[in-house]
Amino acid sequence: MSNWADETLIALDNVVDNVQNIFTPTLRLGVTGLSRAGKTVFITSLIHQLIEGNNLPLFKPLANGRVIGIKLAPSPNQGIPRFAYEEHLAALTGNDRHWPTSTRQISELRLTVKYQSATWMGNITGPQEVHIDIVDYPGEWLLDLPLINKSYAQWSMQAFENASEPARRDIARGWKTLANAVKPSAEFDEADAQKLSSAFKAYLSDCREDTHALSALPPGRFLMPGDLEGSPALSFAPLPPQSGAKPNTSFYATMEKRYEAYKHLVVRPFFRDHFARIDRQIVLVDTLSALNAGPAAVKDLQSAIAEILSCFRAGSNNIFSALFSTRIDKILFASTKADHLHHTSHNQLEMILNHLVANAAKDAQFKGAATSSLALSSVRATREGQVEHEGEMLETIIGTPQTGESLSDKTYDGKKEIALFPGELPDKPESVFDPDASHIGQLKFLRFRPPATQTDTNGHLKLPHIRLDRAIQFLIGDKLQ
Ligand code: GDP
Repeated sequence: MSNWADETLIALDNVVDNVQNIFTPTLRLGVTGLSRAGKTVFITSLIHQLIEGNNLPLFKPLANGRVIGIKLAPSPNQGIPRFAYEEHLAALTGNDRHWPTSTRQISELRLTVKYQSATWMGNITGPQEVHIDIVDYPGEWLLDLPLINKSYAQWSMQAFENASEPARRDIARGWKTLANAVKPSAEFDEADAQKLSSAFKAYLSDCREDTHALSALPPGRFLMPGDLEGSPALSFAPLPPQSGAKPNTSFYATMEKRYEAYKHLVVRPFFRDHFARIDRQIVLVDTLSALNAGPAAVKDLQSAIAEILSCFRAGSNNIFSALFSTRIDKILFASTKADHLHHTSHNQLEMILNHLVANAAKDAQFKGAATSSLALSSVRATREGQVEHEGEMLETIIGTPQTGESLSDKTYDGKKEIALFPGELPDKPESVFDPDASHIGQLKFLRFRPPATQTDTNGHLKLPHIRLDRAIQFLIGDKLQ
């Protein structure tokens, strides 16, 4: 994945980090997932829950009373945008409560935890501190990392192969017609290049729409450009295989150069400067949207997870790697938005997620990293209830659908609460790939508004969630021993 120059820079950075760690240890926690997987809501809730500490019964250091305080701290990295925590929390909890703006690029935020260690040494030395640097970045950017080892011809071939799959064939038609009309050995023309690249981006973006919900769509910056919005580095597209001569100024050669520049200027620096320095990782997965869109979307999600996981430098840290080359020693896969289902379906959701990540997780475990999967809701927007339907009691969820959400012939106004029977997930996780399975087309998921504001007995804001405390315990609990 990386060359020796990158490795040297990574090692130097790690040595600097380690010297700083002697004073206050730092844990860099990566939060990723594809667009709308729930990263922004997860991080906002995570920070709020940790600072308030009033709703995390399964986070042991807090439950055991050893956490003295957790507060926001200035970010050590001046060159990276700060995660807009206050703005996002205000969106979720303000009068017209709405979901915050989603992740568009990398951002960071530092929390400092002061705690009393449980070890005998800790009792002698007194309270200790640890920094937790939360790094939020689009999962789409990870789908770019495998490109480092692929030539333009290989990437192009794969893009055309993907586009011929049944789920993508129709959506790809416009772009493929343009691509097949290009004469690769002809002199390069900027207007044609822009047209082709825009058509390719439009195809990727259509694939991502709710009805298709496809996931494996590199290059990641085409859908999630971050600070490269409108940049010429993003104006290329794949071309069909070419055998004959391709002069230096030809269409094909210019596209190839742009692809190589993208790898060099965009992909490699992201890997080196951010990704290679992460200690622990949570991968958020919107399993329900893929299930809703059908087996092709689930299959695509599975490939995207495998691609994402193949990029992780996973493994347990030995003395050498701890000094020079950080490895990710824990990975948590979390299926988000579990509040769209009744709790009696959460186990099935977890089993489906386990099934989707099985190979990727096995590989990480083989390298020595600990992995776990769970179904969670960062901010729980629904309650549970029961309704009688044709003599049968159905387990429902109750919440306020967002303005404009619709089901059957009803469109909701964002004010009225409803009880919804979301349907049942299949008992056998492998049936999510079966186009004839009974759950297909039976599931009903609506976007709900965030919950009405709740407070604890001290009048402090309390955000409801599902299993966020278990996620936090897995990710950082052992660092507060
Ligand atoms: P990002 O693109 O990964 O940053 O995704 P966001 O965190 O912005 O989440 C995308 C959308 O998913 C939000 O606007 C919400 O509609 C929904 N969402 C995220 N987390 C939850 C959750 O815990 N419960 C519910 N009901 N919806 C959620």
